[in-house]
Amino acid sequence: AELISMRDVDKVFGNGTVAVRDMSLSINQGEFVSFLGPSGCGKSTALKMISGLLSVSKGSITVNGHPAGAGGDGDDIGYVFQEATLMPWANVFENVYLPLKLRGLKKAQARERVENVLSMVGLMNFAKSYPRELSGGMRMRVSIARAMVTKPKLLLMDEPFAALDEMTRTKLNDEVLSLWKTHGLSVIFVTHSVFESVYLSSRVVVMAARPGRVVHDIPLTSGYPRN
Ligand code: ADP
Ligand code: ADP
Repeated sequence: AELISMRDVDKVFGNGTVAVRDMSLSINQGEFVSFLGPSGCGKSTALKMISGLLSVSKGSITVNGHPAGAGGDGDDIGYVFQEATLMPWANVFENVYLPLKLRGLKKAQARERVENVLSMVGLMNFAKSYPRELSGGMRMRVSIARAMVTKPKLLLMDEPFAALDEMTRTKLNDEVLSLWKTHGLSVIFVTHSVFESVYLSSRVVVMAARPGRVVHDIPLTSGYPRN
């Protein structure tokens, strides 16, 4: 079933920058898609429009049949940013609990769910740790847990591992693949690494800059074993 539909989408910022031009895309439930392209080609802007963080200037986007960002769907989208954007004054449990707290769940009601996602990313013993006590890779795992705690249908990841060393990156790539396989998620993974896009995704959407636009949309059917 179709999860995301983008039709003839443009994004022009207030200063006149055309960040995305004429983007049309259909993404099905369960796909792992990467957006690949150089810095400035509109990958982040496209992701933010899909999540509803940014509005479109022209065209339309629907997620699960609803206009992007129009209520309801907030629960269905998990967002992971490049920097692990954790609250430094709160421990790991509280950071991961936040999205549930914002939805009105009390700690007692949320505990099991938070513990489940923490064990999913291998951090069950770090619930009481503070972000500064964790390595970069562990902080990124906390961000992933926080994005997953609402059981989203769609996980949007914006160059999540760009700031990490190669070893940690490789480990986390494998962890994201296994999350995807075990949770029936759809993932859009933004990267400027050709290796990462080919290793992870079953479809590479290649973008180019000035103006940002899709230049190739390539299904990958061989290589990494798919489920
Ligand atoms: P990418 O994620 O591929 O690096 P972005 O989507 O961040 O690219 O940016 C696409 C283009 O839009 C770039 O030229 C960038 O400078 C510009 N841009 C991004 N955000 C803004 C903004 N808030 N105002 C003006 N221009 C912006
Ligand atoms: P990264 O994901 O940043 O590469 P590592 O797995 O290399 O993190 O670990 C960095 C440090 O944190 C190491 O000292 C490691 O023992 C510790 N560490 C990381 N994850 C865990 C975990 N799930 N349980 C216990 N210790 C961990």
